[in-house]
Amino acid sequence: MYPARFEYHAPQSVDEALTILERYGDEGKVLAGGQSLIPLMKLRFASPKALVDINRIGGLDSIQEDNGFLSIGALVRHKDCERSDALKGRYGVLGDAAPQISDPIVRNLGTVVGSLAHADPQGDWGSALLAVGAQLEVASSGGTRTIPLDELFQGPFTTSLQPNEIATAVQIPDPGARAGGTYLKLERKVGDYATVGVAVHLAFDNGTVGRAGIALTGVGHRNLRAEAAEAAIVGAELNDDTIKAAAELAAEAAQPRSDERGSADYKRSVVRVFTERGLRKAAETAQAA
Ligand SMILES: Cc1cc2nc3c(=O)[nH]c(=O)nc-3n(C[C@H](O)[C@H](O)[C@H](O)COP(=O)(O)OP(=O)(O)OC[C@H]3O[C@@H](n4cnc5c(N)ncnc54)[C@H](O)[C@@H]3O)c2cc1C
Repeated sequence: MYPARFEYHAPQSVDEALTILERYGDEGKVLAGGQSLIPLMKLRFASPKALVDINRIGGLDSIQEDNGFLSIGALVRHKDCERSDALKGRYGVLGDAAPQISDPIVRNLGTVVGSLAHADPQGDWGSALLAVGAQLEVASSGGTRTIPLDELFQGPFTTSLQPNEIATAVQIPDPGARAGGTYLKLERKVGDYATVGVAVHLAFDNGTVGRAGIALTGVGHRNLRAEAAEAAIVGAELNDDTIKAAAELAAEAAQPRSDERGSADYKRSVVRVFTERGLRKAAETAQAA
């Protein structure tokens, strides 16, 4: 099917894009990689009056460390993350997630920030970036604001972004010298959405866990943080007992539903196994950092 008729704008600056968005209210849509929006338009699940294509705006395509944050711009593609040295080691959960997203065609065009704005509960970036405690940098004609990811995801395909706002970057706080993480994803075949995904990120402070991030994909109505599991290991030494206890709590935090990808019990059990495996791998990476 073809999309419904729409107007197309290709502004050259964020300010210009914001002025156009303001004009259309909730009938305008930002176009980034188009990997989610265009299929929705073709199926007529979305029929925006206007598309504001941000691909010609300069300065949104870099990954850089600045002011205590690692910043991933709104035009950074999945493939850029796959190839970036900045997303290894301390930010390993992000580097591990990137190559597990779909196939090379989607990874060449789709953006990290677009994934967050799309808020698919089966999106991999949502969990990876919740685990590292990220925030979204957002611009509107009224100024800029930041939205912690915990406050961004409201439900399936629903965020706290307003129609007149553009997310310009996602920012990750520097986790310190001893940090590491990983993203484990179970998929039915290569390129599929997650049956279950578990993101783990750990930052160590004098041998104990200073900060823990554990987030789950595909087992809830949005990407979920396993907060009780995180709390159970903060301040603790990681050993078999604490790892197993945290994995149990993560499984309890999951809200899976039985579907064609597997039963709810099976998915919960995968969360337990992946959390345990993820914590061991994150600790190993952090020791090597
Ligand atoms: C076949 C296929 C398989 C896929 N498999 C996976 C997978 O395994 N894992 C996974 O995580 N994802 C998967 N995806 C989704 C993919 O990651 C998309 O790239 C991503 O969801 C959207 O990013 P985008 O840049 O293409 O956004 P677009 O499609 O351009 O936009 C998506 C939504 O976000 C809004 N938006 C985009 N950028 C901004 C911005 N800067 N500010 C405000 N709003 C914005 C748009 O208005 C739109 O509502 C798959 C997609 C396809 C087509």
